[in-house]
Amino acid sequence: MSTIFSKIINKEIKADIVYESDKILAFKDINPQAPVHILIIPKEEIARVNNLDGKKHSELLGEMFDAANKIAREQNIDDGFRLVINSGEKAGQSVFHLHMHLLGGRIMNWPPG
Ligand code: 5GP
Repeated sequence: MSTIFSKIINKEIKADIVYESDKILAFKDINPQAPVHILIIPKEEIARVNNLDGKKHSELLGEMFDAANKIAREQNIDDGFRLVINSGEKAGQSVFHLHMHLLGGRIMNWPPG
């Protein structure tokens, strides 16, 4: 099922895009939880981690991590950042289109709670 992120991919809804390739889009989170908070998403509609297949999606996942590193360098947070993927409502997922949160620019506590 399509989500609001499909509308961002199709440019029907505006977002502050920081990176785009044929397979991936990255844009600033509308409700940032850190000075840098970017969402890295596949253009393919994958609802959550549970729907990933390591072999089938290996290239895509590799690209998502490459994008995270590239953006972290560009945003000057490569000395310390956090990548988070919530999978399922219990974990805090609210948009059911796979996304990686890239967070940085402040001290990040652990455990996250
Ligand atoms: P989740 O809670 O599913 O892990 O994360 C969803 C994230 O998407 C939230 O951090 C939320 O602020 C962000 N978000 C939801 N709708 C929009 C939107 O329309 N534009 C942008 N840029 N971010 C959104």
